[in-house]
Amino acid sequence: MEEAQNSRRDDALASAQRLRFGRVLRGTLSFACTAAIVGACWAWNFLDGIRAVHYVIAVVAINGIALAAIASGWNLRLKDPSLTTPLVLSCLPPSIYVMFFVTEPMVRAAFLLMGTVAILFGALALDRRQLMRISAVFLLSYLALLATLANVAPERVDLRGESLVALAYCIVLLQVASLGSFIAGLRLKLRQKNQSLHEAMAELTELATRDPLTRLPNRRTAMAQLERELSRVERRRQDGDGLCLGLLDVDHFKRINDRYGHQTGDAVLRRIGEALQQALRQGDFVARFGGEEFLIIMPETGLEGGLSAADRMRSAVARLPAQTLGLPEVPTASIGIAAHRPGERIEDTLARADQALYRAKHLGRNRVEPWSGGGDAREAALA
Ligand code: GH3
Ligand code: MG
Ligand code: MG
Repeated sequence: MEEAQNSRRDDALASAQRLRFGRVLRGTLSFACTAAIVGACWAWNFLDGIRAVHYVIAVVAINGIALAAIASGWNLRLKDPSLTTPLVLSCLPPSIYVMFFVTEPMVRAAFLLMGTVAILFGALALDRRQLMRISAVFLLSYLALLATLANVAPERVDLRGESLVALAYCIVLLQVASLGSFIAGLRLKLRQKNQSLHEAMAELTELATRDPLTRLPNRRTAMAQLERELSRVERRRQDGDGLCLGLLDVDHFKRINDRYGHQTGDAVLRRIGEALQQALRQGDFVARFGGEEFLIIMPETGLEGGLSAADRMRSAVARLPAQTLGLPEVPTASIGIAAHRPGERIEDTLARADQALYRAKHLGRNRVEPWSGGGDAREAALA
């Protein structure tokens, strides 16, 4: 059970890491587009070749580090393993660097546009406040760039035009951040819906596989388990070490219901279910098979082993403290045992266990009986 849970957790982690890796790869593509624009700036003489090379080196380093961090699992040590904030922010210094060196003020607007794309990436993973903060960092960096340029190279800034661009940029960033928060809300709703879907699925699985009264596996689960055990036993059968089945039926249960009420009857069934579960050997399996009948599946067990294991379960029921059940008498149970025969249909083994059970009833109840062949014991018991 724990193993299955761990493997499910590992699968979920691997799929989350794949998703993150894919997202960074898409971000790398966006970085590559900006690098192409930087290349065009160089080709059309808006930028020195060496500045373009610096830009490309920075982009390769940023994306290489991010991809390596996810591939190695190092990102899992961080509070946000998606690396969204550092990645969005990391595109800023190289862009500001290029914007500082381009000779034509108009060309800077191209990099503002590409910066907005980075923030859109952020909108897929960040909340409104984080987006607002990142937008503010973008805007302030741009204003700081303009202020520096106005000081050191006033011929490369047209302050009136740049102010207009800065204002428009501010509005665009605000709108992107607000759209981002809308997307974040949708994401949250989707996550909540997913969560309730998972819970509903778990509940449905529980309903389909367990008996609601005793919480033990139900008949359907028991039959599936029997099929599994059958194919296992057919594959590696050793003489006497096959598969043993036990059918347990509570004695005079109708009387308990009639005398103390159906609710007390239910409580007794629940307590019997618990006692059987506790008395179970490792590898054995117990299910509520119907009404006041339980099926015990004992793999790798011969008739002898099955008899003694079943007798422990019978005495676990007989030892239940009557007063905690609110009864003046202790309920008892009878068990019929049958060992599976090579090539036998599982229904036939069950039928033989049922015949043995009726023999146990016939011989006085509160006992375990093996199937002993011969005539129809059920008929004899009912006679
Ligand atoms: P025997 O020793 O021969 O098995 O006698 P019995 O009274 O146990 O057998 P019988 O088959 O006549 O009665 C079984 C009773 O179990 C009848 C049914 O009402 C009761 N029963 C079946 N399922 C439940 C349940 O979920 N809750 C309760 N309280 N009673 C149940
Ligand atoms: Mg019965
Ligand atoms: Mg009964």
